[in-house]
Amino acid sequence: MDFEFTEEQEKFRREVSQFLEEEIRRGTFAPRCDGWMQGFSPEFTRKVAAKGWIGLTWPKEYGGQGRNNIDRFILTEEMLRYGAPAAYHWFTDRQIGRSVIHFGTDEQKRELLPRILKGEIYIGLGMSEPGAGSDLASVQTRAVEDGDDFVIDGQKIWTSGAQYMDYVYLVVRTDFEAPKHRGISELIIRADSPGITIRPIIDITGTEAWGEVFYDSVRVPKTCLIGEKNRGFYQILNQLDYERSGLERLMGNYPLFDALIKFVKETRRNGKPLAEEPLIRNKLAQLQVEFEVGRLLTYRVCLVIEEGRAPNWEAAMAKAYCTTFEQRLADTATEILGLYGQLAAESKWAPVFGMAAHSYLASKGYSLQAGTTEVLRNIVASRGLGLPQD
Ligand SMILES: Cc1cc2nc3c(=O)[nH]c(=O)nc-3n(C[C@H](O)[C@H](O)[C@H](O)COP(=O)(O)OP(=O)(O)OC[C@H]3O[C@@H](n4cnc5c(N)ncnc54)[C@H](O)[C@@H]3O)c2cc1C
Repeated sequence: MDFEFTEEQEKFRREVSQFLEEEIRRGTFAPRCDGWMQGFSPEFTRKVAAKGWIGLTWPKEYGGQGRNNIDRFILTEEMLRYGAPAAYHWFTDRQIGRSVIHFGTDEQKRELLPRILKGEIYIGLGMSEPGAGSDLASVQTRAVEDGDDFVIDGQKIWTSGAQYMDYVYLVVRTDFEAPKHRGISELIIRADSPGITIRPIIDITGTEAWGEVFYDSVRVPKTCLIGEKNRGFYQILNQLDYERSGLERLMGNYPLFDALIKFVKETRRNGKPLAEEPLIRNKLAQLQVEFEVGRLLTYRVCLVIEEGRAPNWEAAMAKAYCTTFEQRLADTATEILGLYGQLAAESKWAPVFGMAAHSYLASKGYSLQAGTTEVLRNIVASRGLGLPQD
C-alpha cells in the first residue's frame, strides 16, 4: 500500500493552496466552517471556474479536464482546509453535473454543462419532503403529464441553497399506481418557473442556506425529465453514494481544528500555556488520530470511484465515521474553550472567531443530512457485512 502522493499531485496541491492563500489576501473570503455548503459566493466560484477546477474529472468532450478523482480529492481537501466559500459550485461539481453527463439528453447537456463549468448557475437539490427523508421512496410531490408538459404540485424541504437557485434537481412521483420505488422520476427545472414559492429555513446556526420550496401547478416541458421515467429512484441511489463520499464529511469544520491548535499554543491559563496541559494535549492528539482514520476511509472511497465502481457501503462507512469525528471536534473545542466557546462570531469576546459555537450547533445536522447515521449503519450491515436487509 502506497500512501505517498506523486510529485505531480503534490504540485497540484501547492497550486490550489497558493491560489486560496492569494484569494484570502485579496479579501475574496475569510476562512469559515461549512464554506462548502453555506458559503455561497458566485464571485469565488467564477474564479475557481476560470482555473478549470470545476468539472475536473468530467470527460473532455463535455468541457471537463478528464483528470482522475485523486486530483479532485486534493482540490476539495485544500478548499476545505482553507474554509473556502465553495457552496455555489460544490453540488453541481460533485453530483449534478455527473448525473447530467450520465443520464441527460443532448439538449440538457448543451444547456447545463457549459454554464456549470463557467460557474454561472446554481442548481439546488430538491429531494426531501416533510414526510420523506430517510424513506425517500415515499415522496408525494407529483408530476402529472398534460400534453407536452408535466404539472408539478407538492412541497420540498431542506432544498440546498434554495434562494440562490437558477434550477432545481427535483425528485417527483410520476406513477401513482406502481410500487413506490418504481413510480419516481427526476426532473431539472428552472427555479423561476411560475408557481414556485421559496421560503428560506433559518437553521440552528442562524443561516438561511436551505429552504422550503412549494410547487403549485408548476408547468414545465417534458424535456425536463432527466433519465428514464419512473426509474428515478435507482438514479438517486447512485447519486447519494457520491453525495456521501467526500472529504466535506470530515473537514467541514477544519478551520476550527486549525484555530483550536493555534489557540492552545498561544493561550495561557493559570500562568501556564494550554498546550502544556496533559488533558488538552491528550484530547487534541486523540482528535488527530481520528482525523487521520477518517481521511484514510475517505481516500479509500476515492480509490473505489477511481476503479469505476460506485462507492456504496464504503461511502456509508466513511460518512458515518467522519460526521461523528466532526461532532467530537465540536465537543472538544467547547470543552477547551469553556463558556466563551459558546459565543457566536458577532461577539467580540468569542474565541476562534465563534467557530466553536457554530460547529457545535451545525454538526448536529451532519449525521442527518445525506443519510442518517442509523440508515448508513444499515447499509454497512447489509452491503458490507452481508447481513439481511432491515
Ligand atoms: C442540515 C441539513 C441539510 C440538508 N440538506 C438537504 C438537501 O440539500 N436536499 C434535500 O433534499 N434534503 C436535505 N436534507 C434532508 C435530509 O436528507 C433528511 O433530513 C434525512 O434524510 C433524514 O430524513 P428526516 O429528517 O425526514 O428524518 P427521518 O427519516 O424521519 O428519520 C428520523 C429518525 O429515524 C431514524 N430512522 C429512519 N429510518 C430508519 C431505518 N430504516 N432504520 C433505523 N433508523 C431509521 C433516523 O436515523 C432518524 O434518527 C438536509 C437535512 C439537514 C438536517
